[in-house]
Amino acid sequence: MQIETLAIHGGREIDEATGAVTPPIHLSTTFERAVDGSFPRGYIYTRTDNPNRSALETCLAQLEGGEAALAFSSGSAATMALFQALKTGDHVIAPQDAYYGTAQILDKLFGHWGLQATYVNMTDPQQVEQALQPNTKLIWIETPSNPLLRITDIRQITALAHQTRALCVCDNTWATPILQRPFDLGVDLIVHSTTKYLGGHSDLLGGAIVTRQTDPFWDRVREIQRCGGAVPSPFDCWLLLRGIQTLPYRMRSHCDNAEQVAQFLASHPRIKTVHYPGLKTHPHYEIGAQQMDRFGGMLSFQVRDGQEAAFDLISHLRIFKRATSLGGVESLIEHRASIEGPNTQT
Ligand code: PLP
Repeated sequence: MQIETLAIHGGREIDEATGAVTPPIHLSTTFERAVDGSFPRGYIYTRTDNPNRSALETCLAQLEGGEAALAFSSGSAATMALFQALKTGDHVIAPQDAYYGTAQILDKLFGHWGLQATYVNMTDPQQVEQALQPNTKLIWIETPSNPLLRITDIRQITALAHQTRALCVCDNTWATPILQRPFDLGVDLIVHSTTKYLGGHSDLLGGAIVTRQTDPFWDRVREIQRCGGAVPSPFDCWLLLRGIQTLPYRMRSHCDNAEQVAQFLASHPRIKTVHYPGLKTHPHYEIGAQQMDRFGGMLSFQVRDGQEAAFDLISHLRIFKRATSLGGVESLIEHRASIEGPNTQT
């Protein structure tokens, strides 16, 4: 089935009670038992499962081509669940330019629990190979990366992970399943901040994990979701499923627009560098072109005259709003270095 069709129909069925074409929102936190104490309709309590969440999870799994998906209350909660499924003393390899929240989770929260992390330049497989240890259990890929839009060779890094029986996880937030298919390139698990393109309207917070196959590790992640309770509300699930219907069409426009902005900036005398993998001058253009259909709606750039000039530029924009995040229909801009602080990548 075409991805456009899956985006519209995945997880959606006619409501049996009313015939409603658009799914109702099930706000009830609890569901009726049968006389014998069982739950014949499959739902018990909304933290464990909810019809809106199940529908969303079905759709997410179909979009990525995985066996199952879990929806979380944010992308960060999804990331947390994966690291929580590891054990004290396990080792993770992550990119130096991972989304800074992911690095913060690893360092500030899981360092404390004895999870070890090594950060490497993921675009250099040699560095990944050198970082492998007998206790490496997970390699985290984020491509294109946030905010420098570096491209990791997913197939190559996955092969390295599988050499040592480590899991390979790809944060596919910036590419979405419309532009990049990590399961086709070998990864085991896909993570999303659904707050971004999948939601698409900057009005919900959500996250997801999709698995290529269900196995004991997946059961553990599901247990963490259901017992820990970092789940999205039924209304957020409903909004997200609605937003996903237009994802393929929004991504086309995002790509069209970003390509034009990137080309304009690349030829502007006051711009030093444009980081957009769709430009042939981008250092990872070739690998990007192999593993992505198009290059997405995000780009970053550096001005020639430093921070003051960057602030000056931002203050003159009329359509772009100064705000964090991405993937909504509006255009946003921010000075990332001053938000990320001294550890920002340049
Ligand atoms: N992963 C990436 C690539 C992101 O850009 C973000 C947020 O910007 C996250 C994860 C975290 O998602 P959330 O803000 O939904 O917790």
